[in-house]
This record gives sequence, structure tokens and C-alpha cells, in this order.
Amino acid sequence: MLTIEKMEDLLSKEFTRREFFKRLGQQCLRLTLFSFFFDWFKEPSFAIKKNTSFKIFADIDPDFKPAYLKLHRSGELKKRAEKLWEIMENCALCPRQCGAQRLSGKSGFCRAPGTKLVISSFHPHFGEERPLVGRGGSGTIFLTHCNLRCIFCQNWEISHLGRGSETNIEELAGMMLALQKRGCHNINLVTPTHYSAHILKAIDIAAKKGLRLPIVWNTSGWELVERLEVLDGVVDIYLPDFKYWDSKMSAKYSSGAESYPEVTKKAILEMHRQVGVAKPAKDGLIYRGVIIRHLVMPHNVGGSEKVIEWIAKNLPKDTYVNIMAQYTPTYKAYDYPEISRRITRKEYERVIKRAKELGLTNLDIQGFWWLR
Ligand code: SF4
Repeated sequence: MLTIEKMEDLLSKEFTRREFFKRLGQQCLRLTLFSFFFDWFKEPSFAIKKNTSFKIFADIDPDFKPAYLKLHRSGELKKRAEKLWEIMENCALCPRQCGAQRLSGKSGFCRAPGTKLVISSFHPHFGEERPLVGRGGSGTIFLTHCNLRCIFCQNWEISHLGRGSETNIEELAGMMLALQKRGCHNINLVTPTHYSAHILKAIDIAAKKGLRLPIVWNTSGWELVERLEVLDGVVDIYLPDFKYWDSKMSAKYSSGAESYPEVTKKAILEMHRQVGVAKPAKDGLIYRGVIIRHLVMPHNVGGSEKVIEWIAKNLPKDTYVNIMAQYTPTYKAYDYPEISRRITRKEYERVIKRAKELGLTNLDIQGFWWLR
């Protein structure tokens, strides 16, 4: 921080003019960063306090009405939440359908602890797709545990180890409302599937208390169509991955999930049926639609061109496709030499070229320094 002593020190010593401005610049940068982080940390990021300092309200399209309001008002949302809750008796919420007796406190393959809800963090996220981030950020809630458990997961501490805090459904509703009050443009639920019953209950509570933001279902894409049907009219934006084309690859890198490609294709078609193509509103934000993410992996482990060909053939050409270049070997990826490096520019450009050849018009393309 630029203290009086440091300022005096700066002024009392003899420097060249260049050195003086360099040091002054460094001190100003420190002061700016300090103020930024001080402001950030003084606001409670996890605790739901009655008197929060969140004064900014979400800046959203006044014409937008979230899908879940109608279901909330008719009582249907509550019924659907109960329906999902009952499925946890012998859990079949996700394609593992492992039958864990979660209502009796047992955990299944995903390791979610029975009916307890464990959340890692919630905050405005500025690293998501631009039409989700806007100026106020995407109101992201990181849920712990995962049914897919990829060995290269960048959030492995949350998804594999379940690092987070036990919370309850009312608090989850409170987080949604706090994010809205903080100025976020949507509620972005990361890895939601195994907590889908809790989430619907929380949306019902939050809607009653004034939640009006679109719900983003930020999923691995590996979802059962029957469960997605329960979300019809609840979710506004689906944000699925389409990770692999080849079932041998999904089985190898995602804990035996051989069914991933087939299940995900059906799931994406259902998502598209429900919410259609994601198109920005006048304010540049997306309020409804499907945004597909595909992570390009080294040695074409994901079968990128095949994935892109399937999208071009089965969905409208203006489907929003984020072709992600940020793969970084993490967690157990170093046990597999073929995925123990970043991708090359050539690998990434090949996928982009194919997407353009196939006429996809709504591509989110990234540039990173390591793409060379
Ligand atoms: S959500 Fe978890 S407990 Fe339920 S079927 Fe899937 S892996 Fe099993």
C-alpha cells in the first residue's frame, strides 16, 4: 500500500526521473489492487447476512420473465421438486442410476452425502461466456461432488474431494437472492444433477422471495432425458459440455462412463427442444437457450471434429458453440502421457476450421498464449 512513509521515502531519495516514475507506478498499482481486494473481501462471500452490503440490483432485460415463475405460482415447481426428491430413495437422478439410498443417508457413486447439501462457494464469476457475464458477472454456485469424475477435472477438489460447507435448502435460496442483489445476471449452477431436487426446492423458495434471474444448468451434459423433462419450464439456459465422441474415451477418462456420448447426444437434443438456440437480447446478454461447450483435448481425445459434425448436422447452424482451448493437465492427467500437455495451436485451429466449413455461425473462439 502507498503509505505516507513510502511516499516520503520515494520523495526523499535521489532517483533518475525514469526510476521515480517506475516506482510511483508500482506503488499506485499496489494501492489499486489493495483497494480492489479489500472491497471484495469485506463483502461476505459465503455467509448470508440479513444486512449485506450488496446494493446493486441485477441489470436485466425488463421484458425477461424466468421460466420457473409460472411453475412456482401454480404449485407445480414444488411438486416437481418432490418428485425428484423421491427418486433419491433408490437414487436414479443421473445416468449412473446407482440406486444409492440417499433418503436413508447413504452416498452413491457421486459421493453426495445422502440428502445433505454441500456447497463449495458462490460468487459473481467473470470467466464464463461473455453473454452470461455482462457487467455484473454470472452468479455462480459451485456444488460439491460429481457423478462423472473426470481424471483431468480442473475443479477436482470440489468434484472429487467434495470440499465445501454443509448447508441447507433455505440457505441455497438465500445465495440465489444474494447473487441477484449483488448485480449478477443469472444463477449459474455448476454440476447440479445430483442435487437437482434440492435446487428445485431452493428455486421455489427464492422465487417466492423475488428471484427473477434466469437459471443456468451448467452440466457435464451426461443427463437422463426423463430427468431433464422435469426441468422443462424451470431452466432458462442449458450449458452442457459435449466432452467425448468415443465411448472408450469417456470410459477411460471419466470413471467408466461408457454411455457418455450416446446419453449426451439425446440430452442436448432435449435441452434444445426445451429452450432453443441461445441468442443475445438487446443488452447483449443471453436469457434463454442452449450453449454447448466442447473442450479440445490433446491428441484428439475428445473426438472434436466428430462432435462438431454432429452438432452441425443435428442442431441449427446458429447454435452457440464454445470451442474451448484452455485444457490444462490437472489432477491425475499426468498419469496419462497422451493428455499430460496443453493443446497446440494446430490442434485447436483444425477444430475451428471444421466448424466453419460445416457452416456453424455462432462460435465462441478463444486465443491463448500457449496456442502456438
Ligand atoms: S446422482 Fe449420485 S447417487 Fe444418484 S444415481 Fe447418480 S451417482 Fe448415484
